[in-house]
Amino acid sequence: MTSLEHCQALDAKDPLRPLRELFSLPAGVIYLDGNSLGALPRTAAARVAHAVTQEWGDGLIRSWNSAGWFDLPQRVGDKIARLVGASAGTVVATDTTSINLYKVLSAALTIAAQDVPQRKRVVSERSNFPTDLYIAQALCQERGYELLLVEAEQIDAALLADAAVMMLTHVNYRTGAMFDMAGVTAMAHASGALMVWDLAHSAGAVPVALEADNADFAVGCGYKYLNGGPGAPAFVWVHPRHTDRFWQPLAGWWGHAAPFAFTPEYRPASGISRYLCGTQPILSMTALDCALDCFLAVQDCVPAQDVMAALRAKSLALTDMFITLFDERCAGYELELVTPRTHAVRGSQVSLARTTGAYAIMQALIARGVIGDFRAGAAADTGKSEGADILRFGLTPLYLGFADVWQALEHLCQIMDSGEWRDDKFNQKHAVT
Ligand SMILES: *Cc1c(COP(=O)(O)O)cnc(C)c1O
Repeated sequence: MTSLEHCQALDAKDPLRPLRELFSLPAGVIYLDGNSLGALPRTAAARVAHAVTQEWGDGLIRSWNSAGWFDLPQRVGDKIARLVGASAGTVVATDTTSINLYKVLSAALTIAAQDVPQRKRVVSERSNFPTDLYIAQALCQERGYELLLVEAEQIDAALLADAAVMMLTHVNYRTGAMFDMAGVTAMAHASGALMVWDLAHSAGAVPVALEADNADFAVGCGYKYLNGGPGAPAFVWVHPRHTDRFWQPLAGWWGHAAPFAFTPEYRPASGISRYLCGTQPILSMTALDCALDCFLAVQDCVPAQDVMAALRAKSLALTDMFITLFDERCAGYELELVTPRTHAVRGSQVSLARTTGAYAIMQALIARGVIGDFRAGAAADTGKSEGADILRFGLTPLYLGFADVWQALEHLCQIMDSGEWRDDKFNQKHAVT
């Protein structure tokens, strides 16, 4: 049986342990929901306050130039590029993941209409995050395409034979299962389809190599593992072979080659800047910019290592510890592990399925300060426990330790042994789960 002392010893020799101090986490909280809303970096409050009082208050309109507001989407994009295997100048931080997905899927369909006009199908995973599927549904309707939704295991070359575009989320938000980006992209290309990746649960959590893996388009989220704060700008990447081929559909003035020329005709900027649309949320973008510097600090802890490789090693050690403790202690609770045990196909979360009571169990955990989250009716598409709900635990290597994982499992066991989750107060649903 793995002991708390063993976990504390692992924390003591963890080279990334000092990074926890970069975050402001409330006392008594074990935060396992950084995959939904990342924690607050300690420097963010002062940095945003500076942007409000000095840059906005004193600088006023001058700050678009003097405080560097104008090219903030590109500068923040460059910081993200390093974490997702993209070159400088190929990523911008802007808008939301949903909106960016609309832009890239639209651009991909435009390219496909030209290159493979007979193909009228977009393929995605049935258990993809719903907003991705909704955006795809709307675009397919608008453009006369069919959206084909399949299970992850069904994706193969034959299925893609008449697909224009395949759109997948790299790490599944419910199960934590991760696709082989290189292999799946190569399969799509060999079949003649373009490949769009959503990195919402990957950026800042697992190594991503967009260029090396030869993806076509990618979007991702700023407020999950990147810790940019609630509603932080998302990001968009387009492979340079495509960027200048087409306009993106939301051709606003910020994507214009010369926005301040105020010409009546749209002329897109060259490069990824054309994926901007309108004026950016500078205060949110400032918080995201600040949060990304936490990733630079990884290099101070493990100088010889790549940032994401170092974070990945710890992330896997944390999810392994969670799974080990689950195996050792949670038999008999009718909980089922739905996250893959195989490292190569595991993201940075652990999900447990239960046919009944998952919501109340999570509420009971939250009442004890162990914050994860709940996702409804999940496991039908995992091939296990049909209809079961999911308890989701995001394990963020920047600020979590092994003793945190041990304590979280200890609380879970106590809640299951005592049956306290059956209390009425844990069974009342809130708007946001
Ligand atoms: C979190 C998440 C989103 C969020 O989209 P928003 O536009 O920021 O609300 C989109 N897609 C996936 C796969 C996600 O996990």
